[in-house]
Amino acid sequence: MVDAISRTTVENECDVLVVGAGPAGIAAALTLVASGKDVLVIDKATFPRDKCCGDGLTTGALRMLEMLGFDPNTIDNYKICTDVVLRSPSGREIELQLPNSEKDAATTGQFAAIAPRIELDNALVRHARSRGVRVVENCAFVGVVRQNKSQITVNTESTSVFKEINAKYLVAADGMWSPVRKSLGASTASYLGEWHAFRQYVGNVTGPAAEKLFVWFDKDLLPGYAWSFPLPNSRANVGFGILRGANYSVQDMKSLWVELLARPHIVDALGKDASLEGRHTAWPIPARVTSAKLSAGRALFIGDAVCAADTMTGEGIGQALLTGVLAGEAIISSPNYDQTKISASYEKKIKHEFFADHRMSFTLGKILASSRSTRAALRLAGATDWTRRNFVRWMFEDEPRAAIFTPRRWHRKFLKRDGAFN
Ligand SMILES: Cc1cc2nc3c(=O)[nH]c(=O)nc-3n(C[C@H](O)[C@H](O)[C@H](O)COP(=O)(O)OP(=O)(O)OC[C@H]3O[C@@H](n4cnc5c(N)ncnc54)[C@H](O)[C@@H]3O)c2cc1C
Repeated sequence: MVDAISRTTVENECDVLVVGAGPAGIAAALTLVASGKDVLVIDKATFPRDKCCGDGLTTGALRMLEMLGFDPNTIDNYKICTDVVLRSPSGREIELQLPNSEKDAATTGQFAAIAPRIELDNALVRHARSRGVRVVENCAFVGVVRQNKSQITVNTESTSVFKEINAKYLVAADGMWSPVRKSLGASTASYLGEWHAFRQYVGNVTGPAAEKLFVWFDKDLLPGYAWSFPLPNSRANVGFGILRGANYSVQDMKSLWVELLARPHIVDALGKDASLEGRHTAWPIPARVTSAKLSAGRALFIGDAVCAADTMTGEGIGQALLTGVLAGEAIISSPNYDQTKISASYEKKIKHEFFADHRMSFTLGKILASSRSTRAALRLAGATDWTRRNFVRWMFEDEPRAAIFTPRRWHRKFLKRDGAFN
C-alpha cells in the first residue's frame, strides 16, 4: 500500500523512462504499460509538433498501429490510398492497384495510407495517455547523470517539471541525432545518415496526384526517387530523397527542388495550378540497423535512434513502431530488469525481425542505383496482372521484404492477407 502511494506521488520515479514521443517511443510505452509498467515519456517538443516526413504508412506500419489499438479515425486528414503510379527512368509509367475493398468485395482492410505527421504523432500521444502512459511535453533530455545495477538517472530541462528522473530502464526514441545515444558515448562521430530527404506540402492539386500515389525514378535521382503522396482536400505531400554520396549533395537539394517541380511529368501529375504551402523541410534518414549499437548500459535504442529505416526506400515509421514493441517486450521479459538479459533479448529480436530484410533491401537498393536495372525491374513488375498485383503488395510490405528467403515466415496466406483495420 505504502509502495503504491509513493509511486504515484513521486513523479520523477518510474519503471521505464522513454525519451521521445514519436512513433517509436509511443509504441514502446504502449507495450510496457499494457503489462503493468509505470511508464514516463518525455519529449522536448510540445504536441502537436510536425516531423519532416513523407507521411506514408505501409501495410506493415498500418498492421503495427492496429495491433497497438490505435484508431486512424482520430486523424482528420487521413487518406487511404490504393492507386499507385511508378515512373521508370525511361519515362514509362506503370499503374498498380493495391487491393481495394470498394472495387473488390473479396478484399478488406487498408494496405497504404497517408497521415500528416503533425496529426499522426499527436493522435498517438493522446492514445498513449488514454492507456495510462504519462507523457510530459516540453521536457528535454539533457544527459545521463549516473547508472548502477538497478537504476538509471537522467537530467532534464523543462519549464514545468522535474530536473532529475530515476528509472529502472531507459528507452531512447529520440530520433536521428539521439542525444541519449550521444550522452552514453554510443554515437558514431560524423555520422549523418544514409539518406537525406526533402519534403513540402502542395495545395490545389488538380492532376491525378490528388488521388494517386506517385513514385518517380528519375534517372539523375537514382538510387533515390521523388514522390507525391495524396492527402484530402486536393493536397499532397511531395518530396525527394537522395542517397548520400550519389549524384547530388545535400547542398544541391534546394535548387534541385525548384527544377524538379518544373519537370513536365511532375507538373502533369500535380496539375499546373498546384501551389507550394508553408516552407520546405529536409532531414536525414538513418538506415543501417545491422551495424548500429542496439543498447548501452541500462538503455535500449529504438526507431531512428537505432537507424532502423529501410535502406532501399528510407521509410521508417513501421520500423520505428516495431523496434518500440520489441524493446518493450525485451524489458518485460526480465521482471527484475536484468541488464544482460534485456540487452540480449532485444538484440535477438532485432536480428530476427530486421537483419534479413535489411540485407534484401540493400541488395535491391544496388539494383535501383542503375537506370538500366531499374527500368528492367519496373518492366517486370508491370508485365502481367499477377506481377502488377503482387509487386505492389510486396513493395508496400504486405509481407516482410525478405520473407521469400526466410522460410520461418512463410504461411498459407502469403500475399493474400486482408489489410489492416478491416
Ligand atoms: C523527408 C522524409 C520523408 C520520410 N518519409 C517517410 C514515409 O513516407 N514513410 C515512412 O515510413 N517513413 C518516412 N520517413 C522516415 C520517418 O520519418 C522516420 O523513420 C520516423 O519518424 C522515425 O520515428 P522515431 O519515433 O524513431 O523518431 P522521431 O519521429 O524523429 O521522434 C523523435 C522524438 O524525439 C524527440 N526528442 C529529440 N531530442 C530530444 C530530447 N533531447 N529530449 C526529449 N525528446 C527529444 C523529438 O522531439 C521527437 O518527438 C521519412 C523521413 C524523412 C526525413
